[in-house]
Amino acid sequence: MSHPREREVENTKVRVRCPECRTTFHERLQRVVHGDRVVCPSCHEEMRFHGIGHIHEYKSVAVYIHHVEEYTNRLHFSLSR
Ligand SMILES: [Zn+2]
Repeated sequence: MSHPREREVENTKVRVRCPECRTTFHERLQRVVHGDRVVCPSCHEEMRFHGIGHIHEYKSVAVYIHHVEEYTNRLHFSLSR
């Protein structure tokens, strides 16, 4: 069973900044937080994000989205190539 908040964010997109060319683009939140492959639309760099944490751990969807965007904007030390 998925958490109700997961359905709430099913179609939500978050900002992701490409570590290579610094382009900011939007990707589905679910893809980002599940570590699915995300591809930069500008330079086609592939990235995966790990360890973002689960939506259950945050008090609201807005707080979670903020956390995710902060995470993807930081240095991509968790980037796997
Ligand atoms: Zn790029």
